[in-house]
Amino acid sequence: MLLQISEPGEAPTTAACKRRVVGIDLGTTNSLVAHVADVSPAVIAGDGGPVVPSVVAYAGGGEPVVGAAAVARGLEAPADTIASVKRLMGRSLADVEAIRALVPYRLVDDAGRMVKIALGDGRELSPVQVSAAILGELRRRAEAALGGPLDGAVITVPAYFDDAQRQATRDAGRLAGLEVLRLVAEPTAAALAYGLDRGTRGTYAVYDLGGGTFDVSILTLVDGVFEVRATGGDSALGGDDLDRAIVRWAAGDGAVPASPPSDAAARREIAAAVAAARTAKEALTAAERAGVAFTLGGRAIERTLTRVELAAICAPLFERSARACRRVLKDAGYRADELDGVVLVGGSTRSPVVRDHVRAVFGREPLCELDPDHVVALGAAVQADVLAGGQSDVVLIDVVPLSLGLETMGGVVEKLVARNSTIPCGATQTFTTYADNQTGFALHVVQGERETADACRSLARFTLRGVPPMVAGAARVEISFQVDADGILHVAAHEQVSGVEAAIQVKPSYGLTDEEVERMLLESFDHAEDDLAERNLRLERVEAERILAATRAAMARDPHLLDADVAAATTAAMAELERIAAGADHVAIRGAIEALDRASKPFAERRMNLAIEAAMKGRALDEVERELAGETR
Ligand code: ADP
Ligand code: MG
Repeated sequence: MLLQISEPGEAPTTAACKRRVVGIDLGTTNSLVAHVADVSPAVIAGDGGPVVPSVVAYAGGGEPVVGAAAVARGLEAPADTIASVKRLMGRSLADVEAIRALVPYRLVDDAGRMVKIALGDGRELSPVQVSAAILGELRRRAEAALGGPLDGAVITVPAYFDDAQRQATRDAGRLAGLEVLRLVAEPTAAALAYGLDRGTRGTYAVYDLGGGTFDVSILTLVDGVFEVRATGGDSALGGDDLDRAIVRWAAGDGAVPASPPSDAAARREIAAAVAAARTAKEALTAAERAGVAFTLGGRAIERTLTRVELAAICAPLFERSARACRRVLKDAGYRADELDGVVLVGGSTRSPVVRDHVRAVFGREPLCELDPDHVVALGAAVQADVLAGGQSDVVLIDVVPLSLGLETMGGVVEKLVARNSTIPCGATQTFTTYADNQTGFALHVVQGERETADACRSLARFTLRGVPPMVAGAARVEISFQVDADGILHVAAHEQVSGVEAAIQVKPSYGLTDEEVERMLLESFDHAEDDLAERNLRLERVEAERILAATRAAMARDPHLLDADVAAATTAAMAELERIAAGADHVAIRGAIEALDRASKPFAERRMNLAIEAAMKGRALDEVERELAGETR
């Protein structure tokens, strides 16, 4: 109740205490977690460094194995070892048809909804579950390093991820027991890591060459707010392609088939050859030459790779990269020489050969003071810290990557929220009936830039029922779209003439329903009771902190509305809540929260009444809020 009249734009939740929050780069190839300890972010390392390969092995039942250990198992049990799951997030089987031939595990259809992965033992997994396993590993690492349960996480997603992909990522976070504070675009995170938001304006390119994908984005910063102007790239271009190209260079063109062979021994040989090529490639970051040795098809191959040769091997890949960079500049409406900087992201940009290429394309020295492997996670940690109240002077805003709209008569799309609108944002539009006595509305929510619904991505369909019969065109159905801070869309509809509020249900075409997520949450609990208690404890602690901070802020702001006895009772209830929240009994914390609510109720009511009274006198609400904030003239 106290919260309802706190200042707009202010987060009373976190004013006082710094919470245990992290930033997570959930990558196609590698993932990592970072945290802001004092002022600057740092990655959190486990055994074997901070980078966790985004690979999950399910062989042999039991708990899934994540990271480097899973990579090792993948050679033995490829069909039960899931890599590159990010490519499957929020996608249907039809969407990922091209990937199907490239991965050694089996993909199956789930009634036209999100694609599933079929394991050898007959289990079917959603990509959300696999991602949750990776996030769970990162969470454990972070909790071990930070000495307690996490209060929240910011997770990064590619700038081009649509609503279904974002929703799936968010679900994976929930499933891993994380409170997902926000999803942030990877290029935005990279820019934050470099502190580019501290300038007032500027235009930056973010060049991200990872293991399997290449993304390039143009960001503009206006008054501390980033907008992704354009994104482009190539979803099938990355460091892995370089590794395979090196094997072909050493062993001949036919050495690496496009899809993995079914013969286990042949598969192992190829994997070992590609691994040797990768080692040599990575060694060339520091050295001028490196040896590559492997055996393929009974042939022992041994060669020395130089940087000059690597550059020649990379040339066809760089040509594709250069084309994508030129296009994204054109889409954004900038020339390379108008940029204020180029940020390097992704493990592959550590290579001097790649840096030379970037320098040539953009005609400038790229920013590379931060480790390009870490930069996205570091930026996510900065964002998490901001959301937790660590650096309240920074404002961060992301944008809607693709326009959101409704299908209207004739399959035409009416866009409600335009591409690149800064989020959170919303729009409301009124629609009417097409036929006399029409009592239902079939609504179809789509995302994309095209004008016809069938050319856009279908996000959800729902029906609004219970509209009273009227002549065509008389009904007034107000549809509102709200995009929250994660870029996730909430749709609501109501009919105004009749005043009837009909309930609607949004059924995403892809992605999981809440019930499915709940079910998976329960399924994922090995020790369901303990885990649920732990979860409840965390939720209650977060709530306790929120209430304490809000009460403190309100007391500081409006001491004149506080009677001595109410003040004493409130202060006592706050101390009690603080004491109990340090313990582990979530039921007791809930009780103490309610006790504080009761104790502070007279105070809350006086503040509320003042607000209402003032509003009734015809004054603008923001004026009242300013007054409540103590800024009266
Ligand atoms: P993703 O974003 O797809 O998860 P990463 O950003 O972690 O991927 O990049 C992984 C890629 O970076 C791999 O292809 C790896 O070989 C490459 N890489 C890592 N270190 C180096 C290095 N020193 N030189 C060249 N490439 C490197
Ligand atoms: Mg990446």
